[in-house]
Amino acid sequence: MSHPIGIGILGAAGRMGRMLIQAVVEQPGAQLAAACDRPDAPECGQDAGTLAGVGSLGVPLGRSPRDLFAASDVVIDFTVAAATRDHADLALASATPLVIGTTGVDMATRQHLEHIARSLPLVYAPNYSVGVNLMFKIAAEVARVLNDGYDIEILETHHRHKVDAPSGTALRLGEVIADAVGRNLSEVAVYGREGHTGPRNPHTIGFATMRAGDAVGEHTALFAGLGERLEITHRASSRMTFATGAVRAAMWVAQKPAGLYDMRDILGFR
Ligand code: NAD
Repeated sequence: MSHPIGIGILGAAGRMGRMLIQAVVEQPGAQLAAACDRPDAPECGQDAGTLAGVGSLGVPLGRSPRDLFAASDVVIDFTVAAATRDHADLALASATPLVIGTTGVDMATRQHLEHIARSLPLVYAPNYSVGVNLMFKIAAEVARVLNDGYDIEILETHHRHKVDAPSGTALRLGEVIADAVGRNLSEVAVYGREGHTGPRNPHTIGFATMRAGDAVGEHTALFAGLGERLEITHRASSRMTFATGAVRAAMWVAQKPAGLYDMRDILGFR
Protein backbone atom coordinates (compact mmCIF):
# COMPACT_ATOMS: atom_id res chain seq x y z
CA MET A 1 0.00 0.00 0.00
CA SER A 2 1.29 3.47 -0.87
CA HIS A 3 2.17 6.06 1.75
CA PRO A 4 -0.82 8.26 2.85
CA ILE A 5 -0.71 11.90 1.72
CA GLY A 6 -0.01 14.17 4.71
CA ILE A 7 -2.32 17.20 4.63
CA GLY A 8 -1.67 20.37 6.68
CA ILE A 9 -4.56 22.68 7.60
CA LEU A 10 -3.99 26.44 8.01
CA GLY A 11 -6.76 28.22 9.95
CA ALA A 12 -7.60 24.92 11.64
CA ALA A 13 -9.52 26.50 14.53
CA GLY A 14 -11.94 28.30 12.20
CA ARG A 15 -15.37 27.25 10.93
CA MET A 16 -13.89 25.79 7.74
CA GLY A 17 -10.69 24.57 9.45
CA ARG A 18 -12.59 22.23 11.78
CA MET A 19 -14.64 20.86 8.87
CA LEU A 20 -11.43 20.32 6.91
CA ILE A 21 -9.91 18.25 9.72
CA GLN A 22 -13.01 16.05 9.70
CA ALA A 23 -12.89 15.75 5.89
CA VAL A 24 -9.20 14.74 5.97
CA VAL A 25 -9.95 12.04 8.56
CA GLU A 26 -12.75 10.67 6.32
CA GLN A 27 -10.63 10.77 3.13
CA PRO A 28 -9.06 7.39 2.21
CA GLY A 29 -5.33 7.73 1.49
CA ALA A 30 -5.00 10.95 3.49
CA GLN A 31 -3.86 11.78 7.00
CA LEU A 32 -3.67 14.97 9.04
CA ALA A 33 0.04 15.90 9.03
CA ALA A 34 -0.24 19.22 10.88
CA ALA A 35 -2.70 21.94 11.87
CA CYS A 36 -2.04 25.59 12.63
CA ASP A 37 -3.87 28.82 13.43
CA ARG A 38 -2.90 32.38 14.43
CA PRO A 39 -0.20 32.38 17.15
CA ASP A 40 -2.60 34.15 19.55
CA ALA A 41 -5.56 31.80 18.89
CA PRO A 42 -6.73 30.45 22.28
CA GLU A 43 -7.11 26.93 20.80
CA CYS A 44 -3.35 26.58 20.05
CA GLY A 45 -1.86 23.58 21.85
CA GLN A 46 -5.15 21.63 21.86
CA ASP A 47 -5.43 18.38 19.92
CA ALA A 48 -6.69 19.24 16.41
CA GLY A 49 -8.92 16.15 16.23
CA THR A 50 -10.55 16.90 19.59
CA LEU A 51 -11.11 20.49 18.44
CA ALA A 52 -12.84 19.25 15.29
CA GLY A 53 -14.99 16.76 17.22
CA VAL A 54 -13.47 13.64 15.62
CA GLY A 55 -11.50 12.37 18.64
CA SER A 56 -7.82 12.77 19.48
CA LEU A 57 -5.44 12.54 16.48
CA GLY A 58 -2.16 13.23 18.30
CA VAL A 59 -1.69 16.42 16.24
CA PRO A 60 -1.55 19.56 18.40
CA LEU A 61 -2.81 22.85 16.92
CA GLY A 62 0.42 24.73 16.19
CA ARG A 63 1.38 28.41 15.94
CA SER A 64 4.03 28.27 13.21
CA PRO A 65 2.98 28.12 9.55
CA ARG A 66 6.64 27.44 8.67
CA ASP A 67 6.60 24.23 10.76
CA LEU A 68 3.25 23.27 9.20
CA PHE A 69 4.61 23.53 5.66
CA ALA A 70 7.73 21.54 6.64
CA ALA A 71 5.56 18.71 8.04
CA SER A 72 3.03 18.48 5.16
CA ASP A 73 2.92 16.97 1.65
CA VAL A 74 0.20 19.49 0.72
CA VAL A 75 -1.41 22.38 2.65
CA ILE A 76 -5.00 23.71 2.64
CA ASP A 77 -5.44 27.39 3.61
CA PHE A 78 -8.84 28.79 4.70
CA THR A 79 -7.80 31.84 6.76
CA VAL A 80 -7.88 35.58 5.95
CA ALA A 81 -6.96 37.42 2.74
CA ALA A 82 -4.25 39.44 4.53
CA ALA A 83 -2.26 36.21 5.14
CA THR A 84 -2.59 34.66 1.66
CA ARG A 85 0.59 36.18 0.22
CA ASP A 86 2.79 35.07 3.16
CA HIS A 87 1.33 31.56 3.08
CA ALA A 88 1.95 31.24 -0.66
CA ASP A 89 5.57 32.42 -0.16
CA LEU A 90 6.07 29.77 2.54
CA ALA A 91 4.58 27.12 0.23
CA LEU A 92 7.03 28.09 -2.49
CA ALA A 93 10.03 28.17 -0.11
CA SER A 94 9.22 24.63 1.10
CA ALA A 95 8.05 23.36 -2.35
CA THR A 96 4.73 22.27 -0.82
CA PRO A 97 1.65 22.25 -3.10
CA LEU A 98 -1.04 24.60 -1.79
CA VAL A 99 -4.86 24.70 -1.93
CA ILE A 100 -6.30 28.16 -1.16
CA GLY A 101 -9.94 28.62 -0.18
CA THR A 102 -9.63 32.08 1.38
CA THR A 103 -11.75 34.72 -0.41
CA GLY A 104 -11.48 38.50 -0.62
CA VAL A 105 -7.92 38.26 -2.02
CA ASP A 106 -6.92 41.51 -3.82
CA MET A 107 -5.72 41.75 -7.41
CA ALA A 108 -2.02 42.25 -6.50
CA THR A 109 -2.08 39.05 -4.41
CA ARG A 110 -3.85 37.17 -7.22
CA GLN A 111 -1.08 38.22 -9.59
CA HIS A 112 1.49 37.06 -7.03
CA LEU A 113 -0.25 33.68 -6.89
CA GLU A 114 -0.06 33.43 -10.70
CA HIS A 115 3.68 34.14 -10.47
CA ILE A 116 4.24 31.53 -7.74
CA ALA A 117 2.22 28.94 -9.67
CA ARG A 118 4.88 28.96 -12.40
CA SER A 119 7.07 27.00 -9.96
CA LEU A 120 4.49 25.36 -7.64
CA PRO A 121 1.25 23.35 -8.02
CA LEU A 122 -1.42 25.69 -6.63
CA VAL A 123 -5.22 25.47 -6.49
CA TYR A 124 -7.13 28.71 -5.93
CA ALA A 125 -10.93 28.55 -6.00
CA PRO A 126 -13.59 30.76 -4.40
CA ASN A 127 -15.84 27.74 -3.98
CA TYR A 128 -14.94 24.04 -3.68
CA SER A 129 -18.46 22.58 -4.01
CA VAL A 130 -19.32 20.43 -7.02
CA GLY A 131 -22.68 22.15 -7.48
CA VAL A 132 -21.32 25.70 -7.66
CA ASN A 133 -18.66 24.71 -10.19
CA LEU A 134 -21.34 23.07 -12.31
CA MET A 135 -23.39 26.26 -11.92
CA PHE A 136 -20.49 28.28 -13.39
CA LYS A 137 -20.62 26.08 -16.48
CA ILE A 138 -24.42 26.20 -16.84
CA ALA A 139 -24.60 29.97 -16.22
CA ALA A 140 -22.01 30.59 -18.97
CA GLU A 141 -24.07 28.53 -21.41
CA VAL A 142 -27.29 30.35 -20.51
CA ALA A 143 -25.55 33.73 -20.81
CA ARG A 144 -24.31 32.88 -24.32
CA VAL A 145 -27.88 32.12 -25.43
CA LEU A 146 -29.58 35.01 -23.57
CA ASN A 147 -26.95 37.57 -24.48
CA ASP A 148 -29.27 40.22 -25.97
CA GLY A 149 -32.39 41.59 -24.32
CA TYR A 150 -31.85 39.92 -20.94
CA ASP A 151 -30.65 41.74 -17.82
CA ILE A 152 -28.12 39.82 -15.74
CA GLU A 153 -28.07 40.08 -11.94
CA ILE A 154 -26.23 38.05 -9.31
CA LEU A 155 -27.65 37.64 -5.81
CA GLU A 156 -25.89 36.13 -2.83
CA THR A 157 -26.68 35.48 0.84
CA HIS A 158 -24.18 34.51 3.57
CA HIS A 159 -24.00 34.25 7.37
CA ARG A 160 -23.48 37.30 9.58
CA HIS A 161 -19.76 36.55 10.20
CA LYS A 162 -18.64 36.81 6.57
CA VAL A 163 -16.12 39.66 6.17
CA ASP A 164 -15.96 40.20 2.37
CA ALA A 165 -18.65 41.26 -0.11
CA PRO A 166 -19.75 40.35 -2.70
CA SER A 167 -18.67 36.76 -2.02
CA GLY A 168 -15.74 35.33 -3.99
CA THR A 169 -18.22 32.91 -5.57
CA ALA A 170 -20.53 35.74 -6.72
CA LEU A 171 -17.55 37.56 -8.25
CA ARG A 172 -16.37 34.41 -10.04
CA LEU A 173 -19.93 33.84 -11.30
CA GLY A 174 -19.86 37.41 -12.63
CA GLU A 175 -16.49 36.81 -14.33
CA VAL A 176 -17.64 33.58 -15.94
CA ILE A 177 -20.87 35.17 -17.25
CA ALA A 178 -19.10 38.36 -18.42
CA ASP A 179 -16.51 36.24 -20.31
CA ALA A 180 -19.30 34.24 -21.95
CA VAL A 181 -20.97 37.40 -23.33
CA GLY A 182 -17.71 39.16 -24.27
CA ARG A 183 -17.81 41.80 -21.54
CA ASN A 184 -15.16 42.78 -18.98
CA LEU A 185 -16.56 42.45 -15.46
CA SER A 186 -14.48 45.34 -14.09
CA GLU A 187 -16.18 47.63 -16.63
CA VAL A 188 -19.78 46.39 -16.31
CA ALA A 189 -20.19 45.38 -12.64
CA VAL A 190 -22.62 47.40 -10.49
CA TYR A 191 -22.17 46.64 -6.78
CA GLY A 192 -25.44 47.77 -5.18
CA ARG A 193 -27.74 50.69 -6.08
CA GLU A 194 -29.00 53.65 -4.09
CA GLY A 195 -30.78 56.93 -4.82
CA HIS A 196 -31.76 58.19 -8.26
CA THR A 197 -29.91 55.63 -10.38
CA GLY A 198 -31.75 56.23 -13.68
CA PRO A 199 -32.89 53.33 -15.88
CA ARG A 200 -30.85 50.16 -16.02
CA ASN A 201 -27.90 50.08 -18.46
CA PRO A 202 -28.43 46.81 -20.40
CA HIS A 203 -24.70 45.98 -20.46
CA THR A 204 -24.27 46.02 -16.70
CA ILE A 205 -24.12 42.98 -14.43
CA GLY A 206 -25.62 43.85 -11.05
CA PHE A 207 -24.73 42.33 -7.67
CA ALA A 208 -26.90 42.20 -4.55
CA THR A 209 -25.56 41.02 -1.20
CA MET A 210 -27.42 39.86 1.91
CA ARG A 211 -25.76 39.06 5.25
CA ALA A 212 -28.01 37.32 7.74
CA GLY A 213 -28.07 34.61 10.40
CA ASP A 214 -26.26 31.36 9.72
CA ALA A 215 -26.76 31.01 5.92
CA VAL A 216 -23.88 28.83 4.67
CA GLY A 217 -23.98 30.31 1.14
CA GLU A 218 -26.65 30.95 -1.51
CA HIS A 219 -26.06 32.23 -5.05
CA THR A 220 -28.48 33.07 -7.86
CA ALA A 221 -27.69 34.07 -11.44
CA LEU A 222 -30.76 35.82 -12.79
CA PHE A 223 -31.49 36.48 -16.48
CA ALA A 224 -34.57 38.70 -16.95
CA GLY A 225 -36.12 39.62 -20.30
CA LEU A 226 -39.51 41.04 -21.21
CA GLY A 227 -42.11 38.50 -20.14
CA GLU A 228 -39.81 35.92 -18.53
CA ARG A 229 -37.06 35.39 -16.02
CA LEU A 230 -34.65 32.47 -15.72
CA GLU A 231 -32.90 31.92 -12.37
CA ILE A 232 -30.14 29.44 -11.56
CA THR A 233 -29.73 28.99 -7.81
CA HIS A 234 -27.28 27.05 -5.67
CA ARG A 235 -27.81 26.67 -1.92
CA ALA A 236 -25.13 25.20 0.33
CA SER A 237 -26.61 23.68 3.48
CA SER A 238 -23.37 22.46 5.08
CA ARG A 239 -19.74 23.65 4.98
CA MET A 240 -18.80 19.99 4.57
CA THR A 241 -19.42 20.32 0.83
CA PHE A 242 -16.55 22.89 0.62
CA ALA A 243 -14.31 20.83 2.92
CA THR A 244 -14.63 17.55 1.00
CA GLY A 245 -14.04 19.46 -2.26
CA ALA A 246 -10.91 21.14 -0.89
CA VAL A 247 -9.52 17.82 0.39
CA ARG A 248 -10.24 16.28 -3.03
CA ALA A 249 -8.32 19.20 -4.59
CA ALA A 250 -5.41 18.60 -2.18
CA MET A 251 -5.19 14.89 -3.10
CA TRP A 252 -5.28 15.84 -6.79
CA VAL A 253 -2.76 18.69 -6.75
CA ALA A 254 -0.26 16.77 -4.61
CA GLN A 255 0.49 14.70 -7.76
CA LYS A 256 0.45 17.54 -10.32
CA PRO A 257 3.17 19.68 -11.94
CA ALA A 258 3.45 23.41 -11.24
CA GLY A 259 0.46 25.45 -12.41
CA LEU A 260 -2.51 27.51 -11.24
CA TYR A 261 -5.58 25.29 -11.10
CA ASP A 262 -9.13 25.80 -9.91
CA MET A 263 -11.90 23.39 -8.91
CA ARG A 264 -13.15 23.15 -12.50
CA ASP A 265 -9.82 21.51 -13.48
CA ILE A 266 -10.22 18.92 -10.74
CA LEU A 267 -13.83 18.16 -11.67
CA GLY A 268 -13.15 18.25 -15.45
CA PHE A 269 -15.79 21.00 -15.90
CA ARG A 270 -13.80 23.25 -18.25
P1 NAD B 1 -13.22 31.74 10.35
O1 NAD B 1 -13.04 33.16 10.79
O2 NAD B 1 -14.17 30.88 11.09
O3 NAD B 1 -11.79 30.98 10.34
C1 NAD B 1 -10.59 31.56 9.92
C2 NAD B 1 -9.48 31.00 10.80
O4 NAD B 1 -8.23 31.45 10.29
C3 NAD B 1 -9.60 31.51 12.26
O5 NAD B 1 -9.46 30.42 13.15
C4 NAD B 1 -8.42 32.47 12.37
O6 NAD B 1 -7.89 32.54 13.69
C5 NAD B 1 -7.44 31.84 11.39
N1 NAD B 1 -6.38 32.76 10.94
C6 NAD B 1 -6.49 34.08 10.69
N2 NAD B 1 -5.30 34.56 10.30
C7 NAD B 1 -4.43 33.51 10.31
C8 NAD B 1 -3.06 33.37 10.01
N3 NAD B 1 -2.32 34.42 9.61
N4 NAD B 1 -2.48 32.14 10.13
C9 NAD B 1 -3.21 31.08 10.53
N5 NAD B 1 -4.52 31.15 10.83
C10 NAD B 1 -5.12 32.36 10.73
O7 NAD B 1 -13.62 31.84 8.80
P2 NAD B 1 -14.23 30.68 7.87
O8 NAD B 1 -15.71 30.82 7.81
O9 NAD B 1 -13.64 29.36 8.24
O10 NAD B 1 -13.69 31.16 6.45
C11 NAD B 1 -12.30 31.27 6.19
C12 NAD B 1 -12.08 31.75 4.75
O11 NAD B 1 -12.54 30.73 3.84
C13 NAD B 1 -12.89 33.01 4.37
O12 NAD B 1 -12.10 33.79 3.49
C14 NAD B 1 -14.11 32.46 3.65
O13 NAD B 1 -14.69 33.38 2.76
C15 NAD B 1 -13.46 31.30 2.92
N6 NAD B 1 -14.38 30.24 2.48
C16 NAD B 1 -14.12 29.70 1.25
C17 NAD B 1 -14.89 28.65 0.79
C18 NAD B 1 -14.53 28.02 -0.52
O14 NAD B 1 -15.17 27.02 -0.94
N7 NAD B 1 -13.48 28.50 -1.22
C19 NAD B 1 -15.94 28.15 1.57
C20 NAD B 1 -16.18 28.71 2.83
C21 NAD B 1 -15.38 29.76 3.28
